[in-house]
Parts: sequence; C-alpha cells; structure tokens
Amino acid sequence: MPQVALDTPLYEVLGAKSVFLKRLEKLGLTTVRDLLWHFPARYEDFSRIYSISDLEPGQQATVQGTVDEVHVTHSWRKHMSIVEAIIADESGTLRAVWFNQPYVANALKAGRRANFSGKVSLSDEGEVYLSHPAYEVIRAPGETRHTARLVPVYPETRGLTSRGIRFIIQSVFKRVPKLNEWIPPATLAAQNFPEINQAIRDIHYPQRLEDARAAEKRFQFEDLFLLQMVNMEQKLKLAQEHAPVITADIEKVKAIVAELPFALTPSQKVSLWEIIKDLERPRPMNRLLQGDVGSGKTVVAAVAAMIAAENGYETAFMAPTEILARQHFLTMKGLLAKIPAANQPVIGLLTGSGATVLYENDVAASIAKSEIAKKIAAGEVAILFGTHALIEKTVSFKNLGLVIIDEQHRFGVRQRAVLAQNHSPRGAKNGAGRVPHFLSMSATPIPRTLMLTVFGDLDLSLITELPGGRKPILTKIVPPAGRPATYEFVRKEVKAGRQVFVICPRIEKAETEHGGAGSGAGVNERMSGAPRAGAGMDRRLAAMMDMKSVKEEYEKLRAKVFPDLRVVMLHGQMKGKEKEEIMRRFKNREHDILVSTSVIEVGVDVPNASIMMIEGADRFGLAQLYQFRGRVGRGEYQSYCFLMPTHDAKTANARLRAIMEAKNGFELAEKDLALRGPGQFFGEVQTGLPDVAMRALQDPELVKSSREAAVALIQADPLLKSYPPLKARLAEFRARTHLE
Ligand code: ADP
Ligand code: MG
Repeated sequence: MPQVALDTPLYEVLGAKSVFLKRLEKLGLTTVRDLLWHFPARYEDFSRIYSISDLEPGQQATVQGTVDEVHVTHSWRKHMSIVEAIIADESGTLRAVWFNQPYVANALKAGRRANFSGKVSLSDEGEVYLSHPAYEVIRAPGETRHTARLVPVYPETRGLTSRGIRFIIQSVFKRVPKLNEWIPPATLAAQNFPEINQAIRDIHYPQRLEDARAAEKRFQFEDLFLLQMVNMEQKLKLAQEHAPVITADIEKVKAIVAELPFALTPSQKVSLWEIIKDLERPRPMNRLLQGDVGSGKTVVAAVAAMIAAENGYETAFMAPTEILARQHFLTMKGLLAKIPAANQPVIGLLTGSGATVLYENDVAASIAKSEIAKKIAAGEVAILFGTHALIEKTVSFKNLGLVIIDEQHRFGVRQRAVLAQNHSPRGAKNGAGRVPHFLSMSATPIPRTLMLTVFGDLDLSLITELPGGRKPILTKIVPPAGRPATYEFVRKEVKAGRQVFVICPRIEKAETEHGGAGSGAGVNERMSGAPRAGAGMDRRLAAMMDMKSVKEEYEKLRAKVFPDLRVVMLHGQMKGKEKEEIMRRFKNREHDILVSTSVIEVGVDVPNASIMMIEGADRFGLAQLYQFRGRVGRGEYQSYCFLMPTHDAKTANARLRAIMEAKNGFELAEKDLALRGPGQFFGEVQTGLPDVAMRALQDPELVKSSREAAVALIQADPLLKSYPPLKARLAEFRARTHLE
C-alpha cells in the first residue's frame, strides 16, 4: 500500500467518493494528521476474554466463540428486525441480540469465530445474554480493533460512530511512514515521555491504560510547548521591529490628568506610567490592560492616545461593536471638554453606519465616509474610533502610532494577526514604515495559567481597584419560590427611578451531534482553528433559540409581571442599527427594563441601571456572570445582581455561590477554569487552540514544565538551528492554529 504523508488530504486517501469525508469534516478532520490527532475521549476495557460460564450480569466483558446459529426475525408491525446469534465456547453457549441491525446477520455466519464485547444482561427468565455487543470476526489473531482489547471511544458525529472511526484510523495508520521525533531528545528524556511513533500508537491502541495516559500527556505537553514557543518567537520578533518613539511631556500629561473630572486611582496611574514607558521605546508595545468592568480602563487608554496625538501620531481605537465604539467616542468627547481648544486633538468615529468628526470647537459633524478616509490619510484625524472595520477595510493612516483594542479577547487571535500584518513594515500603512504600538484592554479576568500560555506574548498592566465611592454589588441567588418577592423589589427600584437588565441564556447547542455516551462535553468541543462545516449553521440555530427564550421572557415580563412598566427587548438577530437605537433609548431612560441575550454589549455603560437579573444563571460561565454583573453598580446607586438558576439544584447553586464569595475577578477566573475547563471559560471565543492544548491548560504542572522547556530551548537556540523537525512542526502548528 502506498504511504501517505501527514498533510495528505483525506479525500486522496479515502477516495473522493467516500461517504465518510463529509462526516469527518464535520469533526474538523480533513488531513491524515487531523485524523491521527483525533484522540479518543475514553477507552472501554474489553481486554480480558471471559469464559461464557463465568459471565456475571451487569459486567462489561468480551467473550470469544464460534457462531452456532443466526436468525433474523422481522416484526413488521413494529417496524423492527431482530438478529439473534447463539455463541459457543468451551464452557457453554450464550445468546446475543441486536435490534434493527439486520446487517449483523451478514457478518456473523454460522461457523465463524468472533469476539463479542458488551454489557452482560439478565433476561426476565433469568438467562444471561449480550445485548447489542460490539462484534468482530477473527480473521488473523491479534488483529482486533473493536473487541478483546482496550477499545478507544472517539468523539463521534452523526453517521460516523467510534466503530467507523476506528476502522478509518486503522486503515490510514498502517500507511503512515515513521515520523521524525520533533521534541528535542533531552526534553523528551527529562519528561520521560514516549517517543512520537510510540505515542500515536499508544493513544489509539494502548496495551494498558497507563500507556494511553502517558501518550496523552505527551501530546498535551507538546501543544503547550509549541504554543509557548510561538509566543516567545513572536515576542522576539516584535522586539526587533521598529516603532515610533512617542515621548510624553510629563508636565502636559499632568495637565491632562488634572483636567479629568476625577482623580485617577493608584493602579490607573501605574498602568498609565507603564504604557508611557513602553511608548518611549523604539520597539512596539504589546501590552494588555486588564481590569474589572468599571475599573476605568478607557480613560487610561484615552490619555495614551492624547500623548500620541501630542507627538503627531494617530491612534486607532477599536471596540468589538458599534455601540461600544460610539460610547468610547463620547467618553473621549467628555474628557476633552475641559482641555483648551488649541490643545484638543481632532477625534473621529467611523462605523458601518457612518462617520463623524469632532473638531476642536466641539462641533460634531457627520461627514461622508470617503471624506473621512481622505482626512485620515492626510493625518487630520488624531484619534479614530471604530470597530474592526478600521483594520479590515482599507483605512490607511498617515502616521499610525498607537492601536488600542477594547475587549481584545473578543477579537480573537486571528484578528490580532490581521492587524499585525496590515501594519507591518511591508504593509507600510504607517508612513514611516514602522509598526504601531499595541494596547489591548480586557475586563475578562484571565487566569494566570491562561495568561502565560495563550496570551504569553503580551505584557500586562493591571487595574486592581474600582474607582472610589462605588458600593459593592449585592448578589443573591433566587430560587423559584423567591421570584414574586424579587419582582416586587424590581418594581420598587424602577418606581424609584432605576433601570433593570434581564439576561436570558443562550440555549446550548444540542448534545446529539456529539460523541458516544460518556464522552465529556468538553472533549468534543473542538476549539481548533480548522474550519468546521456547519459551524455557521450551529450559530444561526443557537441564535434562533436564543431569540425564542428572550422573546418568551420578554412577553412574560411585559404582559404578566410588569404590565405597568416599560419593558423592551434586545437580541442578536436584530440589525445593528435597531440594537443601537434600543440601547440609546434605554440609556436615555425611555425604557425601564431591558430583556436581552448575552449579546448585550460587554462594557455598555448605563449608570442609572441598578439591577441585573440573570435567568438560567447556571448555564453561564462564572467569568461571564461576573461580566454581566459588572454592568450595574457603575453609578452612585446601590446595585443588585439576582442569579435565577434554571433548577433549584444544589450543585448549580454551589457553583453560583463562588461568584458571591470570590474577592475579585481573578480569583473567580481561577475557580471557573477549575470548575468548567478552558473551553467553557472562553465560551464562544475562537482561541485557535487545539482542544488537546485547551485541556492541558487545566494542568498547572504541565503548563509550568512546558514553559520552562520552551524558555530554555529558545534561549539556547533562538532559530532552532539544531532542531529542524521541531522547526517544521512549529511552522505547521502556527499555520493550523492561525497564530500567524
Ligand atoms: P472599564 O474599565 O469597564 O472600561 P470605564 O473606563 O468605562 O471602565 O469606566 C467606568 C466609569 O468610571 C466611567 O464612567 C468612567 O468615567 C469612570 N471612571 C474612570 N476612572 C475613574 C476614577 N478614577 N474615578 C472615578 N470614576 C472613574
Ligand atoms: Mg470598557
């Protein structure tokens, strides 16, 4: 049989007509490598062969015997077929039955020897039998795939069971040539990991469970190791790029800060200082400004933008949505109000729906997009706010000095990459042929382990306290019986002039598409960057279900619970303009209660809102709940967060209690990571990471050892001259995870 390379597409191997191609693609598998790296979710132990006379009801067992007879009966009325086989070994005979699998009779002809693995059942008559056992006709000894061994159970998809996947993997595996080990020998030895060929075999065909575990660990280590190598490389590469030197005139900075309507908190000051120091260097800053919702990140970024403007450089200030871009624009406008007109930078807003420029005389003018494009190119707009359209469309700046990205985790790795590319010296968007400084902001408290690995190429500034005078938000879990009282409380607050958010859960994607029984949900959740057919479909479906639950809640609240209050609804299927209009009116106090999905924009500032009610609170990750809660308590009023779990389940409530007890977002993030795993932590976000790595992130020991190994290697041999296989593997990894 001809050999196949790892990057050979599966259609070449299986034939373009294979019915399996589409189904494999659904699992994200399009190449030989994808297939071999489709690891089992678990193993069933069918390794011991039992004598028929020794079988006990309830146990999982394999028997080996000869097929004595096979019958097929049809029950037309019930549309059912039943295959029955009598199996014999030296110790006795045993009946096996299969419902609605008539083809079983074709494989199990009388006289054939076969293995049968499955659960031993007890009939009403007290007879021991096998129901739906896996079976495998024995042609050559020791060649079994499905029985008489540790049988791998894979993440499945409709029309492709573990049995089918085992079959395909085995046929492909035989044709893969020996792979070159890419982990440096010293590292491999130090970690005591199996070598690559051994590891691949052990993960698919383990002799013992320990072998499978050791192989799995190796692959987890490998992904973390590669990820950190990529991050470090990027950091080194960036350190060699040129960026404009932006020097801050400290007296002027002090003057700007003095004109703010409030005093900066200590960690706002420290963060601003760290940013100023970075801007002064001729290398591009790549910094993440992290702080809880409401901690005041925007103003820090805004001051940085003003410093850039002072130096004659433009800033692109990007937010994930139009609403947020507009909000930042307005915040900036507010900050500039007290600054002498002559010193004010010209700021602009460019979104899908239009363009605005604010001149020094405080006149905001709507202008045509083509008009603003010209001004931007001429360097006449010092600070430009907008969505990612700013980078993906053909906006070109004259002297782009600083790029600020709000809620950067929502941009994802890929968009960050686009940004880097567009503004690389070759892209020459920056007239001087330099790379702009980068500042990203995030309210998602990212646990340390994730920070070091996934975002390891970023420097970090932390805002650790909330601006003074804020009262802590009172958080309460409301069981079903507590609803009436809570609704009354809501009414009282609204009558006192406050406003209310109600968040409804996104209904999670149906489980049916996923792997066999028992395979953990997280295991099937593919986070890999490989494009997945049907992903768009899933999202649309989820969005529809989303809408349904929001609609229902909205109807209930509007018609039954609060007919006397002004209830409004917001969901992901509305047009951008429509959403914006609703948010604007809500902010303007034209509505009392806003019922929305989780699409409601992160970071939207409505200081008058004092209540956050979260329906189906148990369906959200803690980090997400934390974000929702942060939308209230932004003003002077005592604020409340009501968590309304779907069930009155003790376990769900125990998890929710974490949010009440955690001292800060970071502590909560660590808890969430431990409780739900990184896939859940990131939720919708495409990290571009393979799921093996995502799981590995839960193992702090592994994160540590992989990091140390990566650091040591990069320091000893930055260009990996002595490690060609690793270099090749790294290139492949980078491409696959879209980190480049
Ligand atoms: P986030 O970190 O969530 O982006 P914002 O920058 O939107 O927070 O700030 C939240 C609110 O707090 C804004 O209204 C902002 O003007 C205000 N704010 C920021 N810093 C301070 C401060 N040091 N003292 C008082 N209020 C502040
Ligand atoms: Mg913000």
